[in-house]
Amino acid sequence: MTLARINRLDVQLANQIAAGEVVERPASVVKELLENAIDAGATQIDITVEEGGIRLLQIRDNGIGIHPDDLALALARHATSKIKKLEDLDAVASLGFRGEALASIASVSRLSLTSSQLDSGIGWCVQTEGRDMTASVSPAHHARGTTVTVRDIFFNTPARRKFLKSAPTEFSHIEEVVRRLSLANFDVGINLQHNGNKRWHFKPAPSDLDKLRRVSTLCGQSFVEDAIPVDVSLSGLQLYGWLGRPSMARSQADMQYFYVNGRVVRDKVVNHAIRTAYRDVLAPNRHPAFVLFLEIDPAAVDVNVHPTKHEVRFREQRAVHEFLARHIHRALSALHTTAYPESEA
Ligand code: ADP
Ligand code: MG
Repeated sequence: MTLARINRLDVQLANQIAAGEVVERPASVVKELLENAIDAGATQIDITVEEGGIRLLQIRDNGIGIHPDDLALALARHATSKIKKLEDLDAVASLGFRGEALASIASVSRLSLTSSQLDSGIGWCVQTEGRDMTASVSPAHHARGTTVTVRDIFFNTPARRKFLKSAPTEFSHIEEVVRRLSLANFDVGINLQHNGNKRWHFKPAPSDLDKLRRVSTLCGQSFVEDAIPVDVSLSGLQLYGWLGRPSMARSQADMQYFYVNGRVVRDKVVNHAIRTAYRDVLAPNRHPAFVLFLEIDPAAVDVNVHPTKHEVRFREQRAVHEFLARHIHRALSALHTTAYPESEA
């Protein structure tokens, strides 16, 4: 066998390989772009989808925008405004920080990024065609904020394109992403439209009633009618949201939304704590529904575990577990006093 020599992958190929971790389907693009809009402080986000996002995805926000000199850099890998040094990772407050999403998405689609930091309507735009990553900046009309348009996802990576499902299936994944983020960002107005049809139209929801209305649209009227509200804070931890009654438990774990500092999380410790709390009141093979928010000192949780950032690691796993199990259990016991003796804490 001849000895293979080593060569450096070109930027484009390196980005496409990295994209494999971040961009699985149109819904992953929506997730990344929504997170960017939220990180930019947007109060209004409009999402336009065509053909399940396979043909087109557009996310427009009214956030802080991007400086014209930074537009091309925003598309480069490992380029981020959110962290500067290693210690910043100890307390990440933003949803993003890896500086990978735009580079990855741009490498597997036809992307345009238009942004303005001014109220004058003067903005700038960069476009990439997947293969050509040398983006040049041109003037464009844009109100303060940012619009990212992604066309023809995976047009240059046929092996990935093969795994795309039908437009309706891809759109249902997008809905799920938008649902998750809409539940965590009540103060942001969010519109979603598909093939010209309005799917969701959420105004910012400051009051409890507005929030409930949004939850009702997203999770169903019956969830809201029967949900048990929770709101406890203790020693630096706060838990609030809604617990589905045991009688509302589902055959699938398909309505479980848990957020840590506004970030959607699937975590073993969390799941175990919730299961423990519901243990005595749930029929076998049933899954509770819940929408719960945990607020915790960002320094007490590590979010740099996985590129999609769905996993977290709590510094004080046991304390978090105990806090969740106890207070969820309490909220449930308030309903089922007979099933829970007073002495059980
Ligand atoms: P990350 O979010 O991890 O920093 P991204 O690749 O998603 O990486 O974005 C790169 C950078 O581009 C961000 O750090 C941010 O400065 C800028 N950016 C991206 N999207 C937006 C947006 N919608 N509004 C303002 N700035 C944005
Ligand atoms: Mg990002």
